[in-house]
Amino acid sequence: MDVSELLDPLNDPQREAVAAPPGNQLVLAGAGSGKTRVLVHRIAWLMQVEGASPYSIMAVTFTNKAAREMRGRIEELLGVNTFGMWVGTFHGLAHRLLRAHWQEAKLPQNFQILDSDDQLRLIKRVQNELGLDDKKWSPRETQWWIGAQKDEGIRPQYIQLTGDPWLQTMVRIYSAYEDACQRAGVVDFGELLLRAHELLLNNDSILAHYRRRFPFILVDEFQDTNTIQYAWLRLLAGDECAITAVGDDDQSIYGWRGAKIENIQHFEADLKDVQTVRLEQNYRSTSTILNAANAVIAHNSGRLGKELWTEGDKGEPISLYSAYNEQDEARFIVERIQDWVRDGNRRDSIAILYRSNAQSRVLEEGLLREQVPYRIYGGQRFYERMEIKNALSYMRLITNRHDDTSFERVVNTPTRGIGARTVDTVRQFAREHGCSMWDAAAKMLQQKVLAARAGNALANFLSLIDALDEESTDKTLDHIAELAIEQTGLIDFHGKEKGEKGQTRVENLQELVSACRGFDGLPTVDADGEAVDEEEIPLINQFLDSAALDAGEGQADEFEDAVQLMTLHSAKGLEFPLVFMAGVEENLFPHKMSAQEPGRMEEERRLCYVGITRAMQKLYITYAESRRLFGSETYNKPSRFVSEIPVEYIHEVRLKTEVSKPLFQPNSYGKDWGKLGGGVGQFSDPAPEFDDDLPPLALGGRVDHAKFGEGTVVQFEGSGPRARVQVNFDDAGAKWLVVSMAKLQPL
Ligand code: ATP
Ligand code: MG
Repeated sequence: MDVSELLDPLNDPQREAVAAPPGNQLVLAGAGSGKTRVLVHRIAWLMQVEGASPYSIMAVTFTNKAAREMRGRIEELLGVNTFGMWVGTFHGLAHRLLRAHWQEAKLPQNFQILDSDDQLRLIKRVQNELGLDDKKWSPRETQWWIGAQKDEGIRPQYIQLTGDPWLQTMVRIYSAYEDACQRAGVVDFGELLLRAHELLLNNDSILAHYRRRFPFILVDEFQDTNTIQYAWLRLLAGDECAITAVGDDDQSIYGWRGAKIENIQHFEADLKDVQTVRLEQNYRSTSTILNAANAVIAHNSGRLGKELWTEGDKGEPISLYSAYNEQDEARFIVERIQDWVRDGNRRDSIAILYRSNAQSRVLEEGLLREQVPYRIYGGQRFYERMEIKNALSYMRLITNRHDDTSFERVVNTPTRGIGARTVDTVRQFAREHGCSMWDAAAKMLQQKVLAARAGNALANFLSLIDALDEESTDKTLDHIAELAIEQTGLIDFHGKEKGEKGQTRVENLQELVSACRGFDGLPTVDADGEAVDEEEIPLINQFLDSAALDAGEGQADEFEDAVQLMTLHSAKGLEFPLVFMAGVEENLFPHKMSAQEPGRMEEERRLCYVGITRAMQKLYITYAESRRLFGSETYNKPSRFVSEIPVEYIHEVRLKTEVSKPLFQPNSYGKDWGKLGGGVGQFSDPAPEFDDDLPPLALGGRVDHAKFGEGTVVQFEGSGPRARVQVNFDDAGAKWLVVSMAKLQPL
């Protein structure tokens, strides 16, 4: 193909980066300026012009989905296969190294990945074994702390013990947890990175091999690499490799998970002859959206400083909606989505972004009610659903009996008469004998130390797994999955759960079988330059790994045209014509934790910048005046970020009825209120209708409320089912209530 096809769709600085002679490069630029595009074209250029083989290229992306897209784009550009190229996330690539060199990494061949949910269970268990009380030693905090150590590349034996008893205990847990993982043959996410780093560090020949193999490494979203990732990258690259790193300091949003913005500065200092390229033209968003984003991020200090401009149209203003509560917010969003789709747009051109996963439930309900297909990224992930984890645990036990976490999960699921007491004694025995729970159970049965009933039940469980294993030999993966859900009684067990839940669980289990049917292995793992026969790693292990690594991204209905729901964090790097940012309220976004830790507020603001810059044509920002979340009702102010957007870019769609007293006649609020909404409402909401079912309330009238007691009506707002009233309660103070729900009794 003609080289000009690689360069034509680029502007000058992009072209400069893509066509530069091989060497270290740093592309530092704001959102939507084409960094990822440069990366893709650079790879194509290296292959096409510099004659690089795909085998010699490694590209690190932010998600597995991004990796797939990158491959697709390169193949499209060059019309060649990218087979042999390593493209993936840090975790995915580290995992690949460990699989290829499990012996040198001191892992069992069939090691498995521990997801964070299972990690938490294991930590809990380890703590209990050490006699530590969960209430005093929150397993979640321990999990976080251990993760932070691993992100920094710190093993327990290297932690300097001061006299601090807290630290001593943490180190003790960390050590015991490491032993437990090693015994069970499992590695958590942080361990993947740490071990892959140690693998290269401690094995000269392996390091030399990969250094020879990869003269080109390219990294997207570089601003979010943590210490261990950067160390791994540097080690792997050595002095000969050319690294292209692209990133944006304003989009660094993983500081809370150990990412180091400073790596950008280190990069320039640590590497030889770094060519730094800045891109300043944004191709993604309307000028309104871009200017709003620029204005918000300008409130941060200590930025590397970048200008971003666009030739794009002004476009529509950003719509701001103040909802009464989270239900109203969801309703508003769903209606706007329906309008958009009615105008002939696809649903997958729409994203709803939120700060916290818990927000998705109400949004989902709203979409379900109107039958709008949607897909969630990173929420409750398919592979993290309870029934799926149960099925996967059976599959794990088939390949690795020593996986204690799986053992504990399914030993009595479905219920088969093995009580918690029995499981406790097995665990105890395992601990005393330093063996897995499986071995402990087998030995205890041999020694007949269990009561007859429990013993029989346990023996049946062990033979069930052995039988499944035997039956699985030479079977296809989907067949094994079928065995694991049917012969174990799992599908019947979940099917019996009441109502829709049971039905959904059964469907999910069936979906697992289809996922297995469609699975054709992870990319070929190669060691020491030669392609290893894929057969060497059983497909089932490859599948279990991909389920752990890919969780949530490769969802079943990937091809259906659906609205995308995700957290702001997982939206990084993506773009959508229509974007909703929901729940833009103080305490939720910025998250309330951010007020306590220095630097976190700026990180929240960067997250806001990421959110705004996902939008191409139209952005809606919504917040709710009252919100039921995490089980309690909160009243938050609109986020400070909203006020940081200049008003000229905003259009407020709130139905605002400026209430002034004379408009209300005592005891006749009903009809007047209806008229009032219609007449004074300033914005384009549908004309309000009066709801005859509502009790007759009057401004200044007295009312009684079941929970808050008696009070005086002081203000009205809105109309119809969304009509609200402010009541000054004698004891509980002033509150806004939705009339149709508050069940107020006029006195
Ligand atoms: P982010 O910081 O969000 O990851 P980015 O800098 O990686 O953004 P891209 O996703 O590569 O930006 O590009 C943003 C959009 O602009 C894409 O739709 C891309 O195709 C388009 N684009 C990039 N460069 C050009 C160009 N020179 N001409 C036209 N469109 C471009
Ligand atoms: Mg990008």
